[in-house]
Amino acid sequence: MRAAVTEGAGSMVVIERPTPSAPGHGQVVIHPEAVGICGSDYHFFAGQLADAAGGSQFPRVQGHELAGRITGLGPGCRAELEAGQRVAVWPLHACGRCYPCSVGRPNTCDRFKLTGIHLDGGLQERLAIGQSQVFPIDVGDPAVAAMAEPVSIAVRAVNRAAIQPGERAVVLGAGPIGQCICLVARERGAEVLVIDLQESRLAASHEMGAATLQWRGAQEVVAFARRWAGPAGPPVAFDATGAAVAVRAMVTMVASAGRAVQVGMSDEEAPIRVGSLTEKELDLLGVSCCGEKEFAEAVAVVERNCAALGRLISHEFPLDEAPEAIRFAMGHPAEVMKVVIRG
Ligand SMILES: [Zn+2]
Ligand SMILES: [Zn+2]
Repeated sequence: MRAAVTEGAGSMVVIERPTPSAPGHGQVVIHPEAVGICGSDYHFFAGQLADAAGGSQFPRVQGHELAGRITGLGPGCRAELEAGQRVAVWPLHACGRCYPCSVGRPNTCDRFKLTGIHLDGGLQERLAIGQSQVFPIDVGDPAVAAMAEPVSIAVRAVNRAAIQPGERAVVLGAGPIGQCICLVARERGAEVLVIDLQESRLAASHEMGAATLQWRGAQEVVAFARRWAGPAGPPVAFDATGAAVAVRAMVTMVASAGRAVQVGMSDEEAPIRVGSLTEKELDLLGVSCCGEKEFAEAVAVVERNCAALGRLISHEFPLDEAPEAIRFAMGHPAEVMKVVIRG
């Protein structure tokens, strides 16, 4: 079978590899049909993944946002799974023993592994994986089905925020994760304002019924968000950029007794006025991956919103061109929303 192997920093090659043998106990083999590429793939590919995330270990088959068809089932798989079925893959593998696992938050496991980052992922013609990682998904286009993973981050973020119907929520960043947060928050009945540097990215949010604003500076954005939400400021704000300036704007704009939710990842340091946490008694909430129930919820969100999610797919490449796909995605941030590699 063919596999796109990241051999070292900045080097991916498509080569022949042995096809996995018959699935073991509790395992399925799938044929990955579509793999989405995201910012964490860029960091892994560049060899820049933070040590805290396990670092970039080569060689590795990348691809953690994936959907495919089951081609084989080992003994001990749950009854709902069958050959030929389309599934989305929940990439998280937790240890089950550490403190976060013991309190029901395996998504922050001290020793977690992700398919496509720490374990070989979807950029190959066959993938053997534990049956508990696959979720049947009733979606015609596998590229849309692969959006279940970024949507699952959004479900986690919106659950952390405990958004209520009618609440006003601001989303900083209109990349795929920001768009997915907008979608899930809208489904929960929230009014949403999405902010991004690039006006072209805001059209998709607008189609989801969000108000939009182009970022021209932190002060203007904070003032606009406070006008939009009412004088107290928005009760909920999400940062989906990881940029220090946006994180500061989030903390500044959010209402007293509000929730500020950090979803965008980065190594940047953001100076925050300590008093804004105490005076406002803010809940400052982080988000990492998602749990099993949230992934199942994401699958249902995708099934209900195929058209809106399909519009986020901006570029497609075949598996043979996976190296070109990742280089294109990294080199064209302004044009790219979601690059998908079809297997
Ligand atoms: Zn991703
Ligand atoms: Zn653990």
